[in-house]
Amino acid sequence: MKTWLLSVQQQLSRQIRDNKLPHALLLSGVSGAGQEDIAHWLVNVLLCQNLITDNDVSIFQPCGHCKTCQLFTNKSYPDHLTIVNDKSTIGVDAIRKLSQFFERTAHIGQAKTAVVNHADTMTISAANALLKTLEEPTSDSYIILTTDSSDTLLPTIISRCQKIEIRPPVGDKLLAEYSKQGDDAFINLSHLNELTDEAAAVAFLAFRDKVEQYLYSGQCRAEILSVLVNHHEGYRWLEKVLVDVMRTQWGWKSKHQQAEPSHVVDKQTLWLIYQLVQKANTKLKTLVQVNRQFLSEKLLVDINAVAKSGM
Ligand SMILES: [Zn+2]
Repeated sequence: MKTWLLSVQQQLSRQIRDNKLPHALLLSGVSGAGQEDIAHWLVNVLLCQNLITDNDVSIFQPCGHCKTCQLFTNKSYPDHLTIVNDKSTIGVDAIRKLSQFFERTAHIGQAKTAVVNHADTMTISAANALLKTLEEPTSDSYIILTTDSSDTLLPTIISRCQKIEIRPPVGDKLLAEYSKQGDDAFINLSHLNELTDEAAAVAFLAFRDKVEQYLYSGQCRAEILSVLVNHHEGYRWLEKVLVDVMRTQWGWKSKHQQAEPSHVVDKQTLWLIYQLVQKANTKLKTLVQVNRQFLSEKLLVDINAVAKSGM
């Protein structure tokens, strides 16, 4: 289990112990934060007939051996239902199935549970159907919704659930990557995507290499242009790389050994380039009608001109 999920497990364990677990929960967080992991753990805890308590951390754990645990592990537990979006949305039929599932009596007599993953992808009619089920909970039934985009859920759904926001701290992998390079880990929450999503981290690091090559040798223009035009994070990434490079130049980083180009664009030039990027980024954010392709091409032309005059 991801380390930052322990506090969520503790909170939920406490609620179960105090008999204060609500019928409906909404687990939200950025993609990969672990909401599905918590949902899976919680369902198993609710179904297990032989719960174990980890006394050090006060977290319930399923025994893994009882009949219901075994059925659940084999995905054949009859009193649990998981709903996933098999297309791009969750339709009303899937939610009707869920309502009917709760109306039937339990086979085994423990709790009945359902998980709706990516609940934000419910169609409006599906959401309205779910609302009815949330309004009339049957006893010993639990509905757990997960989402990485709770803003797009109907407020009426959110208001009927206990909302648990899962916030991962800095991602271990990227942090390790940073410390390997001697960086002092200039990290804040706006970089969460790269920090928690490995694919995004890899893409960011590759982009950073390209930008450095571009700054120092003029290569990789096409690749950078492609990221700026096609990647929604492209401009923010470019700003961040420039900040990193400037900090290196000004000696703000603790110890930066290899992989640092020896001949560099001077400080003044870097600063000018950074301002160009900021300006373009602001345009992108504030103007409604902006041609991203044109803006990006113009930015690279401007950077090139500044870099040439600075060498
Ligand atoms: Zn068990």
